Amino acid sequence: MTKEDRQYINLDEIIAYEFRCKQETCGARITVIAAKGVVIPGNCPQGHDWVKPGMEAVAAHNALQQFLESVPEVERLKRFLGCELYLQLRYPQESQSDMVNKIRS
Ligand SMILES: [Zn+2]
Repeated sequence: MTKEDRQYINLDEIIAYEFRCKQETCGARITVIAAKGVVIPGNCPQGHDWVKPGMEAVAAHNALQQFLESVPEVERLKRFLGCELYLQLRYPQESQSDMVNKIRS
């Protein structure tokens, strides 16, 4: 597969966010339409808690929430930027380290 085959999206192509439960044997999903005010669901449809106790869990939750809130803000203000952000998608069979090695080469 060549680099030209890679897929890119930019932020205005995001139409929804899908949250998937990480609880073993669950994997339930909640899809939320991408718009201002997306809030991370507190539980999966099966009742597993997605808001975990502990400082690192709170930090992770806050970082994800900030990311979700920043996407529409960047879209609103992007005309003032001198560049545009494209997100490069990894093919399912590629690992993160495969991708990093290809980008560096
Ligand atoms: Zn679950």
